[in-house]
Amino acid sequence: MAQVGTQPRLFGTNGVRGVVNTPQMDCMFALRLGMAIGTFMKGKVMIATDARTSNEMLKAACASGLMAVGCDVVDCGILPTPALQHAVKTGKTAGGVVITASHNPPDFNGIKAIDADGTEMARENEEKIEGIFHEMAFERPDWRGVGQLVRDTTASDRYIDGIISKVDVPAIHRANLRVAVDCGNGASSVVTPKLLEQLGVRYVTLNADMNGAFPGHESEPVPENAKDLVEMVRAGGFDFGFVHDGDGDRTIFVDEKGRYLYGDRSLAIVANYVCSQERDRLVVTNVASSMCIEDAVKMAGGRILYTRVGSPTIARAMMEHGGIFGGEENGGLIFAEFQYCRDGAMAAAKMLEIVAKEGKLSALNDRIPAYCQCKKKTECPEERKEAIMERLVREAEGKRVDTTDGLKIFFDDGWVIVRPSGTESVYRMFSESKTAERAEELADEYRKKVARLAKS
Ligand code: MG
Repeated sequence: MAQVGTQPRLFGTNGVRGVVNTPQMDCMFALRLGMAIGTFMKGKVMIATDARTSNEMLKAACASGLMAVGCDVVDCGILPTPALQHAVKTGKTAGGVVITASHNPPDFNGIKAIDADGTEMARENEEKIEGIFHEMAFERPDWRGVGQLVRDTTASDRYIDGIISKVDVPAIHRANLRVAVDCGNGASSVVTPKLLEQLGVRYVTLNADMNGAFPGHESEPVPENAKDLVEMVRAGGFDFGFVHDGDGDRTIFVDEKGRYLYGDRSLAIVANYVCSQERDRLVVTNVASSMCIEDAVKMAGGRILYTRVGSPTIARAMMEHGGIFGGEENGGLIFAEFQYCRDGAMAAAKMLEIVAKEGKLSALNDRIPAYCQCKKKTECPEERKEAIMERLVREAEGKRVDTTDGLKIFFDDGWVIVRPSGTESVYRMFSESKTAERAEELADEYRKKVARLAKS
C-alpha cells in the first residue's frame, strides 16, 4: 500500500482495488469504507455494481456502512460505471459508489466513489475519505437517523435515453448500419444491445451474457482479448465492431476490414469529427498521447490541450477550459455535451453517427497520420530520481519542452517523455516518431543518459 504523508493511501487511479476476500477487499473492509464514504457524502447515495461474482457481497456490506452513518441508499443493480455516474448527476444525489474492478482479472473487485456532479472523485475528496476511514471518525446517528434502502431499476433506461438525445438518430437510422459488439461478459450487457436496438442498428453480440468468471476473455480490451471480435468482423458484413471493458467506461473499435484500432486512433477520429462541427473547438488529452490526435484536431480547425495522465484530470481540465471532447489511448472517451466522464456506450453511439455521416471507419482512420512509438526503462535509485530530473530539465534548455507530467522534449521529427515511475525504482522513456527506428533512437538516447546519471 502506497504511503502518502502519514496515512496509507486506499484509492488508486481508479478507486480501491483488491483481491476478493483478502483484507484489502473483504466485507469488513467494504463496510468500513462504506461508513467513511457515507460520513463524507452525507445524504442520498446511489450504488451499482459491474457483473463480478463478489458484487452482491461487497455491495451489501458497503450499503450497510452507508446506512449506518445515516445515508439513504439507492440500489441501482448492475450498471456500467458511466450509467451510474449519469444517475448520480441527474438524480441530484450526494454521490455514488460503484462496486467494480473495471478490466482487472476475475479474482479482483473494487470500490469507486463518484462525486455529486457524476465525475470520478477528485483526489482531495478521496483523501478526506481516507482520513475518516483511518481515524474511524464515522457519524453515529441514533436509531432514528439510520438510512433506508430503496431499489431503482430505471437508471439504465434513463442512461440510454440520455445518450440517444445526444446523437443524430435519423442519420443513424438512414445509414442502415450493422455492427458486432463484444460486451466481455460485463456490465455493458445491460445497456449496449438495447441502445443499438433503439438506434435502429442491426447487431450481433459476443459475450453479452453477464458472467463474473469472464468465460469469453479477460475484460481489458487489448488486442489479444479482441481476437474473436476481429475474426467475426473480418468474416464480413459489418460496418465495424467494438468491445467494452468490464464496467463499460471504455470502448475499442475494429474497422470494417477487421483491423483493431488502438485507442489513440478512435480518439483522433472522434476528435476530428467533433472539431469539424464548429471552428475552434478544444480537445483535451494527456501529454503521452500520440501526435495523431493533435494532427486530427488541427486538420479540422480545432485546438488541443495537454494534461497529466488520468481521466479525472482530463475531465476536470475539460470543465475548466471548455473542452468539448477528451480522452486517452486506453479507449476512455469523454463527451462534454453528455457528461464529464469516460463513457463506453456514448462512444459507440457517437461512432455510429460518425460512420453514418462520414463513411467507412477504415477510410476515416487512414486519413489521419500514423506514428510509431517506443517504450524503454532503466533502473534508478529512489534518492537519485529528483536530481536526475533537475539535470535533464537543465540540459533541455533551449529545446521545446513540456513539464506537465515528467519531461517531454519535442524534436522536429518526434518527441520523448522521460519520467520517474511512481511505484518502482525505474525511470521510463516513451517516444514517438514517423518511423520505428527514430522512435527507438529517441527513447534509447534518454535511457542511456538516465542510466549514466543514475550511476554517477
Ligand atoms: Mg473501466
